Amino acid sequence: MNISTLPDGLSRLRFDNRFTRELPADPETGSNRRQIRDACFSRIQPTPVVAPQLVAYSAEVADSLGLSVADCESAAFAEIFTGNRVLADMDPHATCYGGHQFGNWAGQLGDGRAINLGEVITPDGARQVLQLKGAGPTPYSRSADGLAVLRSSVREFLCSEAMHHLGVPTTRALSLTLTGEQVMRDMLYDGHPALEPGAVVCRVAPSFTRFGHFQMLAARGEIELLRKFLHFTLEVDFPHLLAQHEAGSREVVLAWFAEVCERTAEMVAHWMRVGFVHGVMNTDNMSVLGLTIDYGPYGWLEDYDPDWTPNTTDAAGRRYRFGHQPAVAQWNLLQLANSIYPLVEDAAPLEEHLRGFEIRYMSRWQDMMAAKLGLKAFERTDAVLLETLESVLQLAETDMTLFFRNLAELDPTMLQRPAELMDPLLPAYYLPDQLTDEVRSEIHAWLAAYLQRVGDDRQAPELRRARMNGANPRYVLRNYLAQLAIDKSESGDYSVVHELLQVLRQPYADQPGKEAFAEKRPDWARTRVGCSQLSCSS
Ligand code: AMP
Ligand code: MG
Repeated sequence: MNISTLPDGLSRLRFDNRFTRELPADPETGSNRRQIRDACFSRIQPTPVVAPQLVAYSAEVADSLGLSVADCESAAFAEIFTGNRVLADMDPHATCYGGHQFGNWAGQLGDGRAINLGEVITPDGARQVLQLKGAGPTPYSRSADGLAVLRSSVREFLCSEAMHHLGVPTTRALSLTLTGEQVMRDMLYDGHPALEPGAVVCRVAPSFTRFGHFQMLAARGEIELLRKFLHFTLEVDFPHLLAQHEAGSREVVLAWFAEVCERTAEMVAHWMRVGFVHGVMNTDNMSVLGLTIDYGPYGWLEDYDPDWTPNTTDAAGRRYRFGHQPAVAQWNLLQLANSIYPLVEDAAPLEEHLRGFEIRYMSRWQDMMAAKLGLKAFERTDAVLLETLESVLQLAETDMTLFFRNLAELDPTMLQRPAELMDPLLPAYYLPDQLTDEVRSEIHAWLAAYLQRVGDDRQAPELRRARMNGANPRYVLRNYLAQLAIDKSESGDYSVVHELLQVLRQPYADQPGKEAFAEKRPDWARTRVGCSQLSCSS
């Protein structure tokens, strides 16, 4: 196929591949597994597949790249975004990074099944990297195949778009395609491998630079390349810092680290706001831009349980449990600090920024909690109210999303009718039998204290409700909803993927007719694999 047969938008994609132009390449090509030195990436072509087929695409991401509906629905689009067709100005490559997995240094990891096609300059001048996930082996695939299955690709595609619309910083997803190939996976790692449909997601982000990129260069002792890579990152992703500080100075390195700390605090505060559990917060899965990245065995809190982790590999230590995410983020930042230490040679300011993370996180979390509760602002005295809430949410199995959303239906005038106070919240409780008199009276006492506080705020009720409904989503990608979309997709019916994609575009709006997507987890999903437990196999 020559360029003239490309649909308009696709032929107009403008590439400017700075990563491969400005950073040193591994001299070897091909997917032969290897450790590299003195280089940041390896050129590698995606592996052709038998029958590319589009399953879904994000209209907003497409639009931001200048692609129309016709472009996305063209045969060329499916060919390009499964990796069958590489455009002339692309420069496909896999990048090299390392990381700490579950707290242990794992050495070289790298893009084992991600291939960056190139960097697009969008019609409004932004830089966006197009990255295929599941397009075949790379030098960094280690013992794995470089492929992805439909199950995990549906989860990544839907969740990254859902997170964006929830206002959580995230990488985006342009497309979800089938390859027409079958991929062998042992989903539960229990000796029962089975064939599953192969799929590719095209992810989109200004860059996919991870903490682990810096860690790898530091671990190899390639300090000059580390310096160069950091300067590259500043130029591409943090140009405002180079406008304020001298290039190559210690100050600019420290200002950058401070900003990574801030962005990470912001991201994790959002996760806590919406009830998202990443599941594998290894340092190779942390973006320096503070974007949620690598959707694997993530999950959404159903009943509020700060100790919950969706990842079966994490079941023993629960390192990545919901309530531990801020502390893990800080630990990960400490590893990043260690890796850039040679460029600073002074631990004190790095330690100060690490403490700054804590302060920043706490203040963002308090702001968000104030918004969730519809308070004008967080006051010091609210700490007790929040602490009590934390235990009230654990008295009985309480759906986090429904609890907060429905809380907006209460107002201080209801203090006059105490018997009805809990009514709006009843849908949030999974097991009505757990609501004993004792439990009810504890919940009641908190609600009364809360409404008293709301009364003191003297805010117009509509304003308070609007503030709450903007912080407490009606719709999130509940674990069982993703699984329903997967079950249907595996039988060739993609309607649930499309419907969820549509509903999750407006997570804060009550959508008449879509109530079913806001319901708490049905009983069948309580223990079902894929709904309550996820493995890393994907
Ligand atoms: P993760 O825990 O999914 O972030 O993956 C850790 C490392 O394993 C990364 O280097 C991935 O690229 C690599 N990896 C995961 N799955 C595969 C696969 N199916 N094929 C090749 N590499 C993989
Ligand atoms: Mg990863």
